Amino acid sequence: MASDRIMLTTHPFDDDKLREECGVFGVSGADTASAMVALGLHALQHRGQEAAGITSWDGHDFHTMRAMGHVAGNFDNDEAIRALPGSVACGHVRYSTTGETSLRNVQPLYAELSSGGFAVAHNGNISNAMKLRRELVRRGSIFQSTSDTEVIIHLVATSNYRTLLDRFIDALKQIEGAYSLICLTPEGMIACRDPLGIRPLVMGRLGEAVIFASETVAFDVVGADYVRQVEPGELVVVPHGATADQIRSHRPFGEQSPRPCIFEHVYFSRPDSIVDGSSVYSVRKAIGAQLAIENPVEVDYVIPVPDSGVPAAIGYAQQSGIPFELGIIRSHYIGRTFIQPGDKVRHLGVKLKHNANRALIDGKRIVLIDDSIVRGTTSLKIVQMMREAGAKEVHMRIASPPTRHSCFYGVDTPERTKLLAHKLDVGGMREFIHADSLAFLSIDGLYKALGEARRADIRPQYCDACFTGDYPTSLTDQDEAEVKDQLELLSERVV
Ligand code: SF4
Repeated sequence: MASDRIMLTTHPFDDDKLREECGVFGVSGADTASAMVALGLHALQHRGQEAAGITSWDGHDFHTMRAMGHVAGNFDNDEAIRALPGSVACGHVRYSTTGETSLRNVQPLYAELSSGGFAVAHNGNISNAMKLRRELVRRGSIFQSTSDTEVIIHLVATSNYRTLLDRFIDALKQIEGAYSLICLTPEGMIACRDPLGIRPLVMGRLGEAVIFASETVAFDVVGADYVRQVEPGELVVVPHGATADQIRSHRPFGEQSPRPCIFEHVYFSRPDSIVDGSSVYSVRKAIGAQLAIENPVEVDYVIPVPDSGVPAAIGYAQQSGIPFELGIIRSHYIGRTFIQPGDKVRHLGVKLKHNANRALIDGKRIVLIDDSIVRGTTSLKIVQMMREAGAKEVHMRIASPPTRHSCFYGVDTPERTKLLAHKLDVGGMREFIHADSLAFLSIDGLYKALGEARRADIRPQYCDACFTGDYPTSLTDQDEAEVKDQLELLSERVV
């Protein structure tokens, strides 16, 4: 680092996770639409903490405000909400994989088309964005950002179809990968999900207002009712000022078996959300119970790795009859980062946010429950922390199968070669994290916890590619490196 000040992460347990890339939220037909979007985005902040943006439509003009950082601090004041007038608005929170970190990549992206303004908020990743972009640039398109999402705007702009809806559908038929989109046009709001439904998108109501969001937890925050999920391959069109019977559903794609992301149930979604019709909290408890059936161990306590390991640990404890205890205590009084003047205190970063409950653990045999292992660096630190606190035996159980493959559908994954499970077998991983034993949930066990008999290998019910390498789109193993290279090139490109 250039200066002698170092940035200590105070979320050391969260920093070795796969990270969901984005959250989207849209409201049509509410007086305070942008204020509602700000609240909804706040509830979705766990899906993207790097930047946020809101676009509103006041019946004549579009208004957009985009900012780096959290929703709170940027959109929680009167001035911001007054600058975003109108009864229709959509918003976005993001991390980035495709497109470098800068304001021009913060969504919603907006452009003036021949049909009028067009704003788009996207959760997912367009896997053929680079190829499409090259072709569009060759035909004269001038890109304003390095985001894969901008490809959609240019495809709509250059489509030969007449109506905006047909142009939009024409664009969607050319893109591959994962997309849950909320678009704002002078005619209305469009919400849609890719044909496989890889990323989530749900629909709710608050009085006359129609609301779309990545997760149902955002409905709870604004007091809206969950209606249903937007189905894979479905486009829902809400004309401005529409009554309930004027909302239209379109199915422009051929019938395909859905493959929603199974990791939403394991880690990404908040436990108080409903995903694919199931309570995330209940599924995580069922996962923990299944883990206890498959991988029992004789210990004194079941200890969750906070916070994401908690529901699975409750399930494990209930199934095994071993007491659930809080062996790692989290401080709620510290922000995401903490600046310290020097390297010597770097190792203390772990303890700023989480500390071992020594009085409980000393002399005891424990099993730690975590949702996943990515690089393994966090697991190593936690096991070490438990041993330093006097634990006699430290076992680890993981509430998902080993994460061996990268994700190309809008989730921030390290290179495959950096994934611990890609480099080592379970025995090697156990040695790496210095645990007395280590075991993972089986892939069929994960499906069982989701209410399936087992994984249907010919036509799997979910995308589980980060565990199995079985990608739901035509991405072959050979293509992976190429797509990754393309995405990296795209992010480095200066337009
Ligand atoms: Fe989800 Fe993994 Fe599929 Fe990515 S590869 S969409 S994280 S299940």
